[in-house]
Parts: sequence; C-alpha cells; structure tokens
Amino acid sequence: MAQTTSNHTQTVSGWAAHDSSGKITPYTFKRRENGPDDVTIEILYCGICHTDIHYAKNEWGITMYPVVPGHEMTGVITKVGNNVKKFKIGDKVGVGCIAATCLNCEFCKDSQENYCENLQFSYNGIFWDGSITYGGYSKMFVSDQRYVVHIPESLPMDAAAPLLCAGITVFTPMKDLGLIDSPGKKVGVVGLGGLGHIAVKFAKAFGHHVTVISTSASKEQEAKKRLGADEFIVSKDSQQMQSNKRTLDFIMDTVSAQHCIGPILELLKVNGTLSIVGAPEKPIQLPSFPLIFGKRTVKGSIIGGIQETQQMMDLCGKYNITCDIEVVKPHEINHAMERLIQNDVRYRFVIDIAQNKPNSNV
Ligand SMILES: [Zn+2]
Ligand SMILES: [Zn+2]
Repeated sequence: MAQTTSNHTQTVSGWAAHDSSGKITPYTFKRRENGPDDVTIEILYCGICHTDIHYAKNEWGITMYPVVPGHEMTGVITKVGNNVKKFKIGDKVGVGCIAATCLNCEFCKDSQENYCENLQFSYNGIFWDGSITYGGYSKMFVSDQRYVVHIPESLPMDAAAPLLCAGITVFTPMKDLGLIDSPGKKVGVVGLGGLGHIAVKFAKAFGHHVTVISTSASKEQEAKKRLGADEFIVSKDSQQMQSNKRTLDFIMDTVSAQHCIGPILELLKVNGTLSIVGAPEKPIQLPSFPLIFGKRTVKGSIIGGIQETQQMMDLCGKYNITCDIEVVKPHEINHAMERLIQNDVRYRFVIDIAQNKPNSNV
C-alpha cells in the first residue's frame, strides 16, 4: 500500500522479511515526506525485540509482508516540520512501538495512548494515510512528533535503544504501583532476559530489595554480581519456593515461555500484585486458591504512554541505567535472531544501523 501513497517519496534502505521463513534481507522502500508535525530521524541503532521474530515469521498470523521490523530505535533528527517545537535538527531521540493513535479517546487525551483502541505500531501497522508502517531496521524514519522522546545526553545511543520497548514495558508496572518513589519494598523479577535484567536495574535504582526468580541456578552470580539483585530463587526448587512464601510485595513476570504461575503467586504477601509482561502463546493457568487466600492481584501491562516513556528515559539518564547489549551489524541480523531464539544473548541485540566506526561517540 505504501508504494501507492502519493506523498511517500523518500527512498529508504532497510532490511525486511518477505515470507514466513523470517529471513531478513536488504530491502529498499518509500517513506512519507516530512509533514508539518513530523520529524525525520537518521537511525543509528535499533534493538532486536523478540516480537520482531514473531512478526518476521508470521507466528501470530497477522504479518503483512514485506515487514521491516524494529521498534527500539535511536537516532538523530535531520528534519523537523513547521509545527514541531519540542525537537530540533541534531537532537538525539528515540522512537518505540507507537506510530499512530486516534488522538481523541480518553486514553489518548490522558497520555495513555498505549491503550488507545486504534493504536498502530511502528511496523506492520496502518498509518493515518493508509500506508503500512515500516520499522527501525532501516536507515531513516519519519515519525509524528507526538511519538518521539529525547534521549538524555549521558546515555549511549546503542544501549539506550532497547529502553524504548523492553525498558518501558517493565517501567510502567512499577510506576503504576508507586514503586518509583516509595523505596524499601520487596520486589521479585521472574526471568532474567531482555526485560528481566532491566527490571532488576530499575527496582534497585528505585531502592527496593530485589529477588530474581529463575529456572536456571547458573544465573545466580550474574543476577547478584552483575545486576545487583539481593536474593535469588531457583523456581524449580520447591524447597526454596516454599521457604519464600509470602515474602514479596510485587512480582513482575517477564517470561514468555509456558510456565505455572501458581507457585509464583504464593511468593506474594497478602494483597501483593503479580504483573504479567511476558506473553506465552497459550493461555496462562490461573489457580484460584493462591489468589483467594492471599487477596492477590494479577495485572497485565503493555509498553507505556509517550509521556511516561520520556519520564523513564530521564530517570535512566539520572541513574545511568541502560541495557546490557551485544551490538551486531545488519548482515548479522538473521544469526542474532537465531541466537535470541536460543536465549543466547546477554541481554539484548542492538543493530548498528549506521555502521559507525568504532570509538565514534554517537
Ligand atoms: Zn518489543
Ligand atoms: Zn485514542
């Protein structure tokens, strides 16, 4: 559809999947002209989120090929429209998952546009002009200014990129429960991957006692030494799970593989909250007893609004929080995706889109 949209005249080099093999190859396409409310961004880095693989391989059955994935992009502004006041050429910025929303619903009006029913994603979405959106696996992006955030000067552009999806995904559940400015709570994080490792960093920065709950005992040293977690529970060890019952105020479950949440619920204190941000493909089994006997809550959450994404970025600047990343070149995307499927990354791949020379500062 993009090809027939009249103002889509800017030629962009990118990388796309063309069928359910999910293989990513170079792809040249068109983006819209920079409109009055738009900014054009030269993309420097783009994180590889697991969602990108689901779309590349059409695992959710909704992919519109060719798909240019990528919703964790950072870069530098090269053009601003006449109505743009918040950004100027040369600004370091980021764009996450949102390309368009309705602008009129209660959620859009309340800076919670991530819950807008007409939310369109940065790729595989339908933009206001009817064109299909293409994501950050590309050299250039045009975004409405509403969906762009500033990247603090102190943050490296590569390690900041995954904050735009992974980071905001784990930030908002903590913000919702007031955990940003009420230190001293007992916080659990289930799973130590792309989402989990940032959740640990946030919870520590906000002054909480952090317990990592993981299936692999081998991650204990890393959780404690590298990420600063206070405790570690091996979820397969029923003795450990038993002796930690009713100890946590809040748990964030970041695991997208099939797993039981009953034993995890038991770790919560009475009135505790379990926030689900991982998305297993099959429905989660929710046992009623640990809910009822502990008056516990199970909540979901998806990314965040743009205002809170900026708040998160600013806090990351303040606390110097970034993702632990491995940078890859565009021709290594397929290999990186295979490794991501095997969980073989600490903790996020980021594509060096601009392929800057080593030691370059941007
Ligand atoms: Zn993502
Ligand atoms: Zn809306």
